[in-house]
Amino acid sequence: MSWERVIGQHRVKNLLRQILSSGRVPSAFLFEGPEGVGKDAMAIELAKTLNCERGGIEPCDNCPSCKQADSLQHPNIRLVFPLPRGESETKDDGPLDRLDEKTMKRIREEIAVKSQDPYHRISIPRAQVIKISSIREVIHEDSLSLYQQGRRAVIVMQAEEVGTESANALLKVLEEPNPGTVFILTTSRRSSLLPTIVSRCQSLRFDLLSEDEIVDALVKRHSLSQADARLKARLAAGSFSKAVELLETDTMEIRAEALDVLRDVAVRNLSQFSARARRLQESKDIIRVEALLKMLQIWLRDVAVLRFGSSSDVINQDQTSTLEKMVRSFNTSNLIEAVNAIDSSIRELNGNVNLGLLFVNLLLNLSGLLEKKNEAQSV
Ligand SMILES: [Zn+2]
Repeated sequence: MSWERVIGQHRVKNLLRQILSSGRVPSAFLFEGPEGVGKDAMAIELAKTLNCERGGIEPCDNCPSCKQADSLQHPNIRLVFPLPRGESETKDDGPLDRLDEKTMKRIREEIAVKSQDPYHRISIPRAQVIKISSIREVIHEDSLSLYQQGRRAVIVMQAEEVGTESANALLKVLEEPNPGTVFILTTSRRSSLLPTIVSRCQSLRFDLLSEDEIVDALVKRHSLSQADARLKARLAAGSFSKAVELLETDTMEIRAEALDVLRDVAVRNLSQFSARARRLQESKDIIRVEALLKMLQIWLRDVAVLRFGSSSDVINQDQTSTLEKMVRSFNTSNLIEAVNAIDSSIRELNGNVNLGLLFVNLLLNLSGLLEKKNEAQSV
């Protein structure tokens, strides 16, 4: 009940409750906001609600219709997402007609994963756009009567991927909506949609999730420890999907590595700087390097919090004695600058960058900022 599969997003849920209880459900919604915050999850819940056999403004989660919706096998609920082109596919083919068995299997698997975890982003190899044939199929279906009682819901995921042709077809159906059908478009790039499409939809803006919301969900849904969940939530920066991507990453190990790096920084251990840089350069593992850099920030923020704030706000609660040592061994007046320097390095990661060079430069920079000057010299 109460859309529990959707983490947080209370403002959006309240707006939807108001809309549903008014009985005036618009023919098209646009759920927009950052990647991985629950837009698809909410779209599925809304479609489920519109079809629940008990009616009402929230689904019962128990009737056969709700169960079909949860497994993404509801005949009234159609999912649209980017698909690859099939071999020698022509204009007259349906979206799946020319796809090979391997691709079809992947599509079924992706939908199964999505039904288990609505935060999963469906990704089919070589899929680039939402095909015009997918939109045509939706239009055709819309002209038929419903398979079972309820309301037809069309969820267009990654709606920013509609090409010009598909966008025009979609626009047409949004302009002349079938009164029984509800379209729900989800996108993290609203600006890539035709303004005419956007203006046909009731937009609902989804926010980044709070760290506590992500921690709770990781602990409940993926049985993580509080400490591990806290670190992953911090690295995920408001996106539950990003946090889930980090499930396979050993954040505790990266935390230990980041601590070693900071110990080297404190004593300006140049030979270790270059040895680490060489290893990172060879690994070419940008995701891990990004996690390592963010972990350095988490440590330094903790040092700052312990030095200037309240110890209850420290992320690494189990490491306060280590943090206290760092407070003593670093020049704490430059902590903010050090965190900012790491930010710039993280931004550079997206470019075509030499990881080793980037890392060694950052460590030299951090050493300069954080090395404790001789007490006698200050003043
Ligand atoms: Zn139900």
